[in-house]
Amino acid sequence: MHAAGSKRRKPYAGIFLLLVMLASTGMAAVHASNDITQLLVQADSIKTTDNPGFVRLLDGLEGRTTEMSEAQKWRLRFLEGWQADYSGREDKAKSLLEAVVKQAPDNELRTRATAALINVLGVQHHYEEAFEYLDRALENLPPVADQGARFPILGEASQLLSEVGQYDLAAGYAKQIIADYPKGNIGCIGHMLQLHAEIRGGQKRIAGELFQKGIKRCLDVGDKLAADTIRRDIAVLDLQQDRTDDALAILQATNDEVKGLNYQALTAEYNVLLAQAYWKKGNVALAQKYAMATVDVASRSNLTEPLIKAYQLLYQVEQQYGNLREALAYHEKYVAADKEHLDDIREKALSYQIVKQQVETKKIELNELNKQNQILQLQQALNGKAVVTSRLYITLLLTVLASIAFWLYRLKRSQLRFMRLARRDGLTGIFNRQHFVEEAEQTLRYAAKSLRGACLVLIDLDHFKDINDTHGHVVGDTALKRAVSVCQQHLHSCDVFGRIGGEEFGILLPESTLIQALERAEKIRLALQATTNDTQDHVALTASFGIASTAHYGYDLRRLLLAADSALYRAKRDGRNRVVISMDEHTPRAPTYTGNGKLADKHPYANSSE
Ligand code: GH3
Ligand code: MG
Ligand code: MG
Repeated sequence: MHAAGSKRRKPYAGIFLLLVMLASTGMAAVHASNDITQLLVQADSIKTTDNPGFVRLLDGLEGRTTEMSEAQKWRLRFLEGWQADYSGREDKAKSLLEAVVKQAPDNELRTRATAALINVLGVQHHYEEAFEYLDRALENLPPVADQGARFPILGEASQLLSEVGQYDLAAGYAKQIIADYPKGNIGCIGHMLQLHAEIRGGQKRIAGELFQKGIKRCLDVGDKLAADTIRRDIAVLDLQQDRTDDALAILQATNDEVKGLNYQALTAEYNVLLAQAYWKKGNVALAQKYAMATVDVASRSNLTEPLIKAYQLLYQVEQQYGNLREALAYHEKYVAADKEHLDDIREKALSYQIVKQQVETKKIELNELNKQNQILQLQQALNGKAVVTSRLYITLLLTVLASIAFWLYRLKRSQLRFMRLARRDGLTGIFNRQHFVEEAEQTLRYAAKSLRGACLVLIDLDHFKDINDTHGHVVGDTALKRAVSVCQQHLHSCDVFGRIGGEEFGILLPESTLIQALERAEKIRLALQATTNDTQDHVALTASFGIASTAHYGYDLRRLLLAADSALYRAKRDGRNRVVISMDEHTPRAPTYTGNGKLADKHPYANSSE
């Protein structure tokens, strides 16, 4: 099936199998109108049945191109492309078939060339391109009436999709073939493809009649190759489900016929299935014999799948015989072939996904393009493969960029969330002590530089323990939130506000004189006191305030805190629910704000009740 001496592996005999089968569907619709047309038809019909004869006819025709019409020349080019593929010269096949696909005037010929080109690309492992051609061909699928052109595309679709594991889709296209061609050998291939896709797709319960129907249909049209391919699938299913005797019966009955067909891919598969069946039956000698036969056929024709299975079996056989050195050698071969095969499968599946993505993108793009004429012009400027390739890369690039951007955004968002959590007090949502200190210090540094005064206000709720004890902690928590909310209502945007202890809060008021700070603290004090009647639980809430100004203590936060704290202490001692400002030690009196809106002209300590 492949030119002798080809070094490349060809794991997907399947693609080629279809090409061989397609040969017989030929050019039935073409009428012989003159000598050359007749010769072209004749050549087409013997491509596989008499390949040397076909090559001779081609040689003859190639010498007569001057007599040919354009249409005839394209037909000749298609046949040359087909032969190049058949004989393993895929590069030549590709360029010939590509030309036909792009330029031939006849739709049927273009479609047949597309199918053959997809086959070539598959053999070359250029899966991405293969899927691209397939996708385009499926989009422009010829009408049912166009017998010769519709089937090759549906057939390639079913086959390629089976190979990338899209078994449902593959079976769907096969069923389409069966529906399109109720008579003749093409429908037989539809049955073959459908059963193959379903078995590979893990369908366990395929009705026996379906197999028999498929086989009968193929035998009715004399297609032994397709019938035996279906039998192979039955044997595969039987082996999977431990009906080893059934599998053996089918394989033994058909093996000679398969050998006679001289189609290496199927021969190799029958051999390896026989080897597996005998191994399951415990017949090690026959298992070894058929595994060796598989290696013989499969390595000559680069058929990776049966080769892998054969190596694996031979490894087990040698192990059973106790020949560890041989076992190891086979195992190494098995691993190497298996790896290559898996890489290939991965590549194929990836290509399918890429093209699928690309097609989706194309659909979206098409909508966009209707609105964006500019892009349309740009894309038209690129041609052929350049469009496909660049669009693919652009899509990939955009996808990558978009996902990077998305992840960066997510990362940033979670970082911000953590930072927020780290800075905020869990209960009230305001700055926690540490962050309050950081922010206050920064504000003070700025104030120091600009030589502007600032005041620190410390607030401690009065008898809070009693609230907890009387009403419980839940009510206590609510009261804390209430206090925070009241403070917030009186804050300016530049003020720094934080919870610096259990029921203690700090407010740094930048650009504030002592008197301004005093007035604002007093407002908060009164507002807090007034909330008692607003709440359902009627919990009386008051607080004591201590204030210190940079005018007296400088811009060091620690000093300000100490001073404000001592003022606060005095407020508590003087009976709570009041505002006290701390003054320089040298100041003889620190005024107290008593709550009646006036500065009390008395020494705070003198009023101490404690
Ligand atoms: P004073 O007027 O002297 O400040 O009396 P006080 O009862 O408020 O005394 P102190 O400041 O020593 O007690 C604070 C109480 O606040 C102690 C603690 O149980 C309570 N507290 C601290 N954090 C929380 C909190 O997050 N939720 C609740 N419900 N209570 C808290
Ligand atoms: Mg306290
Ligand atoms: Mg308190």
